[in-house]
Amino acid sequence: MPATPQPRPTILSIEPYVGGESKLPGVNRIVKLSSNEGAFGPPPGARAAMAEAAAEMHRYPDGSATALREAIGKRFGLDPARIICGNGSDELIGQLVLSYGGEGTELVMSAHGFIMYDLAGRYAGCRVIKVPERDLQPDVDAMIAAVGPRTRLVFLANPNNPTGAMLPASEVERLRAGLPADVLLVLDAAYAEYVTRDDYDAGAKLVDAGTNTVMTRTFSKIFGMGGARLGWAYAPAPVADVLNRVRGPFNVNAPAMAAGIAALAEPAWVERSVAHNTEWRGRLSETLRGLGIKVHPSEGNFILADFGTPARAKAADAAMRQRGLIARAVAGYGLPHCLRITIGTAEECGMVGDALAAGFARAD
Ligand code: PMP
Repeated sequence: MPATPQPRPTILSIEPYVGGESKLPGVNRIVKLSSNEGAFGPPPGARAAMAEAAAEMHRYPDGSATALREAIGKRFGLDPARIICGNGSDELIGQLVLSYGGEGTELVMSAHGFIMYDLAGRYAGCRVIKVPERDLQPDVDAMIAAVGPRTRLVFLANPNNPTGAMLPASEVERLRAGLPADVLLVLDAAYAEYVTRDDYDAGAKLVDAGTNTVMTRTFSKIFGMGGARLGWAYAPAPVADVLNRVRGPFNVNAPAMAAGIAALAEPAWVERSVAHNTEWRGRLSETLRGLGIKVHPSEGNFILADFGTPARAKAADAAMRQRGLIARAVAGYGLPHCLRITIGTAEECGMVGDALAAGFARAD
């Protein structure tokens, strides 16, 4: 056999990422509740701006994303020079890990933290340390204790996907205070807008308070723009400099940038989406609890339903699929007894409740 090119060994330990399903064989009306996309899609202005920008697609985009960074900075009160835009926040997460991690280093995350940290860590060759949680809540003391001399990165999704767990600002500060100054803390605030608790902070203050904290954000959730692939990071100047060195020259496409700027100009859309999410996250959680299903407290635009056993979760999934409802199995996160269900429209939430009322009874 002739030799074939081989990747670094850790690459083959990565399972390709499979996104939430969007089709079911033989079912016409699908309700996709598997990827935490905003219930209402993008603001109308964002659609229009994207279409207009697409007409100019023979031109390269502004490689510095200047107008978008300024719009983000204005909206959130942040320094645009320290905002870096990416092809989804996933891209920025990957670049942070490749830049600060690598062979011989360690990356610390909580046991059920967002899967991208694990994938990116392995891609970079890091040893990924998953720290046990307490009832699906990240354990700050255990995370600090897991940090060793080889640790270069600590990741915290706040709120976390798929658990919905949120750490209060005081706990995040305690985590940061417990880290050596040369360890980068990445606060992934993809779901920040959905949080209703008032002891929350997405992380910008911590970014400004030192040099070892980065916050990542996305247009994929509250702005309903997952298909546009648009995310951003807010970083201390030295980290922003690193990201600017490693990102692709034109890593954000022009239609996505135009849509992002337009979306930021429609705060009423966001307010309505948040109000809807708060109402229906509560109502759906209560409905499921009424059926005897454990629902973890969530600060995101999804809930994690715990059916007790993998068989019961499978039965619930089947009952939903029969009605075209696609939830997200989270066995890959070590939660085979759970399903993650995105908060959809009022009608869609009603359909989930009905399907589980029927299906869950049958599973018993
Ligand atoms: N972080 C978290 C916690 C997420 O759940 C997601 C989306 N699944 C992302 C980041 C990635 O978002 P984006 O679409 O911006 O790459």
